Order: sequence, then structure tokens, then C-alpha cells
Amino acid sequence: MGTLAVYPGTFDPITCGHLDVATRAAAIFDRVVLAVAASERKDPAFSLEERVALAREVLKPLENVTVVEFSGLLVDFVRSQGSHVVIRGLRAIGDFEYEVQLANLNRRMAPDVETIFIAASQEYAFLSSSMVREISSHGGNVSDFVHPAVATALADVYGEPRR
Ligand code: ADP
Repeated sequence: MGTLAVYPGTFDPITCGHLDVATRAAAIFDRVVLAVAASERKDPAFSLEERVALAREVLKPLENVTVVEFSGLLVDFVRSQGSHVVIRGLRAIGDFEYEVQLANLNRRMAPDVETIFIAASQEYAFLSSSMVREISSHGGNVSDFVHPAVATALADVYGEPRR
């Protein structure tokens, strides 16, 4: 059966930072499920279907990674997949408090589910989906930060980059 890890997030949209974490997780675990959260309360810029489709496109080269959508409690979803491992990415100090709080809450609800953090690569340590949307909305070029399919999707929403 092998070890299956779940990498959850909003992925609005998926960035090179997410891809980096997924790639590194895929090298450790037999299978990785990248779980795109509905995250309705965050009012995402891209629909759930768009976020899933973009993640599938970006992660196509990773044979042991699949993309699924989910809503509801993360620990319930993780168990439904037959997994007990959650992957989260950690960037700078800013992520730490929130991520540790989340991991502790999840452990409280499901002691059998363990959260494992993958430290962001130096080159992506500053990168977030919100930053990418912000740059794109001001006409900036995001091609260093996202897959070409994501850059195209951003251009559809915010217009072509001016530089
Ligand atoms: P969420 O709404 O759950 O925070 P995100 O899509 O913003 O969803 O992020 C999903 C996970 O990926 C989080 O653990 C986040 O810290 C991590 N992450 C986001 N950007 C990066 C990056 N550039 N490098 C490493 N991890 C990242």
C-alpha cells in the first residue's frame, strides 16, 4: 500500500513554492494527494474547479501526486484517504504561529494524524499566492513565480502583464 501523505491548501493559484513542496514530498512518500480546499470563507479569486485544473496541469510531471478537492474538516478528509500524514510548507516566521496552531488543533482532534513541515526553498521563501495575485493585478510579470498555465489564467483575470 505504501505511505500516503496529504498536502492541503487553497492553492489560489498554485505557485512554484507549492510545486517545490509537492516535489519534495513526492520524493519522500509513496503517494501524495494535493488537496485543494474549497475555502469559501477566503473568497478565492479562482473557482475550486479552476484551482484543481491548474494544480493538475502543474503537477502532471509528478507521477505519484494526484489532485483532489475537499471541503470540511481536514482530519476527516485525511482519514478518508487512508492517510495519517499532513504536509504543510513553512516559509518565514510569519507562517510559524498559524501553522503550529493548526497542527496542534488537528492533533487534538485526530492524534493519529501527524503534520510534517517542509521548509520553503530559499528562492521561494517570499512567495505566496496572494503576492502573485497582487503583482498580476498591477500588471506585473509573474512568470518567475508560476507555471505558464497559471500565468495565462492570471492574465485572463487581471489582464496581460505590462512588463
Ligand atoms: P492555506 O489557505 O491552507 O494556507 P495556501 O495555498 O496558501 O493554503 O498554502 C498551502 C500550504 O503551502 C501552506 O502550508 C503554506 O505555508 C505552504 N506554502 C505556500 N507558499 C509556499 C512557498 N512559497 N514555499 C513553501 N510553502 C509554501
